Amino acid sequence: MKLLLLILFSIFSQSIVTPKQVEPVVTQKQVEHSIHYWQHALRLDDLDIYGLIVPLNKLPDGTTGASKCSFSTCEIRVLQPSDYVKLENNTLEGKEILNDIENTIVHELVHIRLRKLSDIYKTKTIECIITEECTYAEEYVVVRITSALLYGRESQLK
Ligand SMILES: [Zn+2]
Repeated sequence: MKLLLLILFSIFSQSIVTPKQVEPVVTQKQVEHSIHYWQHALRLDDLDIYGLIVPLNKLPDGTTGASKCSFSTCEIRVLQPSDYVKLENNTLEGKEILNDIENTIVHELVHIRLRKLSDIYKTKTIECIITEECTYAEEYVVVRITSALLYGRESQLK
């Protein structure tokens, strides 16, 4: 009897041990929900936009997300939470990773919103001395708009 109690205690105590750091889980459904919410907020309902949760090696270097469009279909890639530890200088963990994934989704949707503008400067209809300057300018605008949108929603939730 004493041995049985010891075994039961041992099994039970192992099941309640909390791992040191558990990375959050993000599901395809959560990504799709976030995309649809922000897609509508940015009035991109005429596009078919889907999300993919991918490992770090499926993204451009130094990024946590990417997007590409072909006609009216767009794909948004977000980094799987378990690969955040592989990022150089990563300090995000837990809920911060989930917030970053949403930030990435909004960021890529703003790029998609500005797609026509970037198509114009890529064809050099407007003057950019160096193409990288236009890319940098777009990145700056995208980051600022993304922050404003997320801040606006946070304010609504309070
Ligand atoms: Zn960007």
